[in-house]
Amino acid sequence: MPPPMPQLSFWDRQTWLSHIDYAIIGSGIVGLQTAIQLKKQRPKAKILILERGTLPHGASTKNAGFACFGSVSELLSDLSLHSEAEVLDLVEARWEGLRLLRQELRDKPFGYEATGGFEVFRKGDTAIAHRCLDAIPDLNDKLSGIFREPVFEITNTIPSFSGFGAKTIVNRFEGQLNTGDMMQALLHRAHALGVMILNGVEVTGVSSVSDGVIIDLEGLELKCQHLAVCTNGFASELLELDVKPARNQVLITTPIFGLKVQGSFHLDQGYFYFRNVGNRLLVGGGRHLDALAECTSEMKQTAKIQSHLEELLHKYILPHDSFEIEQRWSGILGVGDQKKPIVKQVKPNIYCGVRMGGMGVAIGSLVGHQLSKLMTNSEG
Ligand SMILES: Cc1cc2nc3c(=O)[nH]c(=O)nc-3n(C[C@H](O)[C@H](O)[C@H](O)COP(=O)(O)OP(=O)(O)OC[C@H]3O[C@@H](n4cnc5c(N)ncnc54)[C@H](O)[C@@H]3O)c2cc1C
Repeated sequence: MPPPMPQLSFWDRQTWLSHIDYAIIGSGIVGLQTAIQLKKQRPKAKILILERGTLPHGASTKNAGFACFGSVSELLSDLSLHSEAEVLDLVEARWEGLRLLRQELRDKPFGYEATGGFEVFRKGDTAIAHRCLDAIPDLNDKLSGIFREPVFEITNTIPSFSGFGAKTIVNRFEGQLNTGDMMQALLHRAHALGVMILNGVEVTGVSSVSDGVIIDLEGLELKCQHLAVCTNGFASELLELDVKPARNQVLITTPIFGLKVQGSFHLDQGYFYFRNVGNRLLVGGGRHLDALAECTSEMKQTAKIQSHLEELLHKYILPHDSFEIEQRWSGILGVGDQKKPIVKQVKPNIYCGVRMGGMGVAIGSLVGHQLSKLMTNSEG
């Protein structure tokens, strides 16, 4: 729990907390991008981000750093549940989000590399492997309106390191980035533009009033003209929305001499993923194996998921290497009945950009752009 708000002085009320044009709850990718884009549209506006964590404390600082938009098995699964137009819209939105992120941070190194991505299949998973391999021409055709060139290709040169089957699917447009550097770069950009960020501040309620929005902090009320709720997996704590928290767990190894795994890898419809981070290996996912228990905003690790991640690591990814697990952590996704993010006005002067699903690094920047435009357009 964050500490209670300190007693305010006359000066506090006159400076930090007076005449706030736009308040934003949450300093993840979406909150920061929303603030940055608002500031570009309204340079004189006073913009305040309220964040309950000492650092951003949801998903944006915890994620795996895949600059991705969907593997073949995940897209096939999505196509069985959603219309083709919905799935293609989502891919396009993720791809556009990645472009906007790179454009925003073009002068700040954040470890982005267009490494390509790979989908691998366990040796026994022949049925799903064949289904995915056979679907490639049709999927490439469907995606040609977005990428102009074939996205997916089959290769049998990778992964020579592992216990996976010989045939691998390459996603030519995927990449990876350094999550910590990306978030620091976004924070610097927001600060440089004059966005004010207060950390350790928990918002406990929001309500529309005739001339703005009242934000309840613990023991303190704050007023702003317009409010954006960018709390993703925690959104239902403040607003009635179709967003549920979903925990995602990760581990990372100690440095591995001569690590052969280079690039970003997916399997099982994206539910599992791994990548190299320098000469360490990061492995994450598996929430589908304990779906009910992982439907939580409690940030901790469980023996069940962690043992699945370790099994994947020791049995399939690096069966012949020796290493230790250096660190384990988890973060919270925002998911719902649909994969599409919710970007809308919820009440007079209250807006939201939430439900980023498993690819918010990709789609988050687009949502920030959309939300800022929605807010400024509604002012007339
Ligand atoms: C382990 C893991 C791996 C992932 N890997 C990838 C990946 O490789 N590629 C990819 O594209 N996506 C990935 N994601 C998803 C991606 O990280 C998220 O979709 C994205 O970061 C969401 O950003 P956000 O700004 O919407 O939310 P968040 O980053 O969750 O930010 C919400 C913020 O709101 C704050 N907050 C919440 N409630 C309150 C309140 N009441 N008062 C004040 N502050 C509040 C939280 O502390 C938090 O900082 C991963 C997620 C996880 C957890």
